[in-house]
Order: sequence, then C-alpha cells, then structure tokens
Amino acid sequence: MNKIKFLGTAGARFVVMKQLRKSGGVWLSLDGANVLIDPGPGSLIRCLTSKPKLNPINLDGIILTHRHLDHSNDVNIMIEAMTNGGWKKKGIVFAPSDALDNDPVILEYIRKYVDKIEVLKEKGKYKIKNISFSTPIKHVHHGVESYGLNISGKKSSISIIADTNYFKDIEKHYKGDILIINVVRLEKSPTIEHLCLEDAEKIIKENKPKLAILTHFGMTMIKAKPWELAEKLSKKIGVKVIAASDGMEIDLNEYCQ
Ligand SMILES: [Zn+2]
Repeated sequence: MNKIKFLGTAGARFVVMKQLRKSGGVWLSLDGANVLIDPGPGSLIRCLTSKPKLNPINLDGIILTHRHLDHSNDVNIMIEAMTNGGWKKKGIVFAPSDALDNDPVILEYIRKYVDKIEVLKEKGKYKIKNISFSTPIKHVHHGVESYGLNISGKKSSISIIADTNYFKDIEKHYKGDILIINVVRLEKSPTIEHLCLEDAEKIIKENKPKLAILTHFGMTMIKAKPWELAEKLSKKIGVKVIAASDGMEIDLNEYCQ
C-alpha cells in the first residue's frame, strides 16, 4: 500500500517537550520503499505501538530535513532498529552536512551500520529503491541548514516544506500533488523563523495541490484548533486542506495522477 503515516504532528520545543502532540516524524511507504522522515523524540515508540505495527527493520532509508531535536532526536536508535542492531548492514541515511560534521546528531559509531550516508545539498537528487526525491533549495532562514523535499513515485508526487521562515517564491519549489507544510505559528512572529498560517495559505493558494496537509504545530496553532483552521482554509481557497493528527494515515493511491 502507498501511504503516509504521521507518527507525530508536534512542532517546536513546547509542544514537543510537553508531548501535547507526538513527535515521531512521518513514515512513507511508496512503490515498495519505506522511508522515515524526521524521527523526533518517541519515533521508535510510535513505530512499535502503531496499529498495525510499523517494523523499523523494514525501513530502506531515513531522511533528516535538519538537525533540530524535534526532527532528529531518535535518528540513532532508528538506525539501530533499521539495521537489526547493526547486524544487518542496510539502508541509506540522508542529512544536511551540519547534522554530520561539527557537533553531529548522527553518532560516528552508528554510521557504519548503514549502506550509505548521503549529504543533502541544494538542488540535490537522491534515490531510495524505486522512489526519488530532490531538495530544491536550502532553507537558510531557520538557524540551521534545512531542506524541504519533493518526493516522486511512479504515480505520486509529494512535497514536504520543512522548517523555514517564509521567503520569496518558496511556493515555486514545491509543486507536488500532495503538499505537506510545517506550520508552527498561527501568526507571524518577528523573532521565530517558522511558517505561519498566512504563509501556508499563500503557498497553497498559489500551488493548488490535490491535497494540502498542515502539520508540525506549535502552541499557538494547537490552541487555535488546527482542524477548524484547515476546514476554513479549504472553504476559503477551494483546495482540500486538512490538519494532520497523530497516527493519521493518507492513502496515496487516492491522489495518484
Ligand atoms: Zn527546526
């Protein structure tokens, strides 16, 4: 089955540390490949307690969009679990260079468990089994190196706009049929480098994906009931917009071309 499962929808420090929402990242199963994106705190537990259970040994790759803890905390244990404790060398791990070089979030001794570590770069193109993905532009407005993803399967295209502040023409880089946006803030903040609801609206209105999914919610979004905001946005701009919830699964075949 081709699907995306949200193992968590928490964004930024407070929602994560209080676990108001879970923070396990996103599990993608597409054209025979299983990929875990941004395994934040609790990712392993979320996989193992998922119904049906998601067995990390079935993973073919792990992608970190950036090194912040809410995206990378469980990366080492997930690599161990993907490789059967390091006994079965397999899989590819993708991460920006600042997750690997100084003060790395991926431990040196764990790296030899996987087939390959690939460094994410601007305009990079990558493959995991039958699926490919690209990182069109470096999100420099987030304090660390961060990348959104355009993932392509045989019939599906999925764009994930990872953490960033809004920058001009961001929408031009993410044209997938399914568009997932990390919307941390309800309103713009001059000091917090994250997308807000208004930014998401602008991007969705411009790109008109078949489905837009809001996720990675900070406190201001949670308090404002993201499911209601998504419904209002849908009606306002005429594009199907939903708010992700913990454990939510999307059947990608429904949105194939
Ligand atoms: Zn971040």
